[in-house]
Amino acid sequence: MSDALNVMGAKNKAWWFIIAHKKIILQELDESIPYGDATELSLPASMLRSKIKIGEYQSHPCYLIVASDASTFKCGSYQNARILLGKIDETLFNMLGRALQVALFYQTHQYCGQCGEKMQRVEWEIACHCSACAHRCYPRISPCIIVAIRKDKEILLALHQRHYQSNEEIYTVLAGFVEAGETLEECLQREVYEEVGIKVKNIRYVRSQPWPFPHSLMMAYIADHDSGEICVDEDEIYSAAWYAIDNLPALPNKGTVARELINQVLAECDSF
Ligand SMILES: [Zn+2]
Repeated sequence: MSDALNVMGAKNKAWWFIIAHKKIILQELDESIPYGDATELSLPASMLRSKIKIGEYQSHPCYLIVASDASTFKCGSYQNARILLGKIDETLFNMLGRALQVALFYQTHQYCGQCGEKMQRVEWEIACHCSACAHRCYPRISPCIIVAIRKDKEILLALHQRHYQSNEEIYTVLAGFVEAGETLEECLQREVYEEVGIKVKNIRYVRSQPWPFPHSLMMAYIADHDSGEICVDEDEIYSAAWYAIDNLPALPNKGTVARELINQVLAECDSF
């Protein structure tokens, strides 16, 4: 093949996010997201007509194809998207998150929530529109705070009921969804008080992270203990306590925002 043709081939290469009900087609050989020319990957023409451009990665377009469980593809098989956690870089993982969230949005907005008529996809933005009543919807994003709390040289870590009940003895930070009409700071104070019965101060924003399971946006903070003794909400938390830096329980995996917050607080404890 001539160099000119090779260049042409590279030009047509794209990343393909083929999604059906939270599962994604991954190449069987190395569990990677299909990348290449549509013909090379034998993508069916009927599917290509409905592809949606969701962005670019490494200067190549990223296309979403919303498929059904029954559709089969020569380029791979359906896998749980979570297996790519920590295996691909954050930019590509966030693109995968975008694909999962947009696919879920189209699947769950086929009919108008206001009048019940069939909705249409808007061509120029990611939205669904009802021509009968002009109602328009956008992908749902659920803001969520996550907070690590320090008290002098100790960190508050909790064993959540969901971890305890699945026999995963992982101690982690607190988190919760923002309610309608609430600021992030109010949400943080409320969640901490509800879950462990204490008040916090010196709230510091650290970073955010989209979390596409199914559509959260995590906003990560660090705060200091202000007042109160730990008293857990047993519906959510199995146990919680202050831990010294040299006596830590099992922590969440590296690469998670929870672990990053814990590491940051432990560094603060060390220098306190
Ligand atoms: Zn409508």
